[in-house]
Amino acid sequence: MDVNGTTTARRVTRQIAVGSVAVGGDAPISVQSMTITKTADVEGTLQQIYALAAAGCDIVRCTCNEAAAAEGLAQIVPRSPVPIIADIHHQYRMALAAMEAGVQGLRLNPGNIRKPDQIKAVATEAGDRGVPIRIGVNGGSLDQALYTKYGGVTPEAMVASAMQELAYFDEVGFDQVKISVKASSVPLMVEAYRQLSEATDHPLHLGVTEAGPPPAGLLKATAGIATLLLEGIGDTIRYSLTADPVEEARAGRQLLEALGLRERKNVDLIACPSCGRAEIDVIDVAQRAMEAFGERKLPLQVAVMGCVVNGPGEAREADLGIAAGNKRGHLFVKGRNIAVVPEDEMVEALVEWAEFINEHGIEAAIAKADTTKAEREAARDRSLLLADQGDDVNHAAEKIVEIRKRASTEV
Ligand code: SF4
Repeated sequence: MDVNGTTTARRVTRQIAVGSVAVGGDAPISVQSMTITKTADVEGTLQQIYALAAAGCDIVRCTCNEAAAAEGLAQIVPRSPVPIIADIHHQYRMALAAMEAGVQGLRLNPGNIRKPDQIKAVATEAGDRGVPIRIGVNGGSLDQALYTKYGGVTPEAMVASAMQELAYFDEVGFDQVKISVKASSVPLMVEAYRQLSEATDHPLHLGVTEAGPPPAGLLKATAGIATLLLEGIGDTIRYSLTADPVEEARAGRQLLEALGLRERKNVDLIACPSCGRAEIDVIDVAQRAMEAFGERKLPLQVAVMGCVVNGPGEAREADLGIAAGNKRGHLFVKGRNIAVVPEDEMVEALVEWAEFINEHGIEAAIAKADTTKAEREAARDRSLLLADQGDDVNHAAEKIVEIRKRASTEV
């Protein structure tokens, strides 16, 4: 997206189907995550899958590392609300077992299943069953021969690993493939995906592997994934965080919504950073509002602003907002004051009005409100605050005088 809000054209890729979810082509960019339970624990894994789906996850991956996991998948897949992908490392037989269990996709790591006849056996059976495969190259487990040839984990080596695997698939006529070239280094993964997108038109699965715990992990993953999405590269994404996987799903969904690549599903909460003028603890109110909105399906932008002096104006684009002043909360809709509530009822009032707007629309909310009274009350509290705090509550003018004084005395 450029500064004018124009979206960079999305790179054209082929489309594959992961069960009911289309990936690539003009399909919406999908969000993936991975369960952290033992896959043999059917009920525990399903609980996590339900939570992931509720948080906006479109596709869930489960490890299939032993026969008990494959047996678990046979029970999980029919009860899952989203397609299930089996994650396979080292043992190609687990890929065959997972397909027998009915999974809608496989992920193979070319770094640890290397025998061409085994790779081809899996691809042939996947072709017969209509199961797509992700070639999941990982910088940390790159094939040793490629590591040596390219002098380390380089973008070229990672792309070569993916293309080598793709060639085996081509040999058996299998093309239901998506590819990832993840690394824990953001610049490395960005460059690898750029090169990969030039080399193939298969859909790409984006991720920064082993990004770590939030907030640093969130930042790393966002830096890598968002950079590529804004260049039009990427068809499905996964945040790899050392955290509850629900956080991964939530982050993926929120990133896509923030970039305008998926429709908003839940509240987009914006809040001022607070300053000397704040009449409330903005951090606490914003946190409580986030918790109150939770996973409610309210696709609105809601603002929490620390003061009525600047809040309603600064957040005039929000669908709904609240600004504090004189121990009261001033509610506003698209910058229009609509109601005043006691300070300790601010969060409840936000939720109530958000539900009303979601059901009846912005115009109905403004029509229902006594805007004249609300505007008068807001003007009153604004003047009281200005009289009390002045219009330079952060003492910028004093600081400027001091800065100029120092500058004029410096040699
Ligand atoms: S001026 Fe008011 S709305 Fe703006 S940052 Fe300060 S408290 Fe928040």
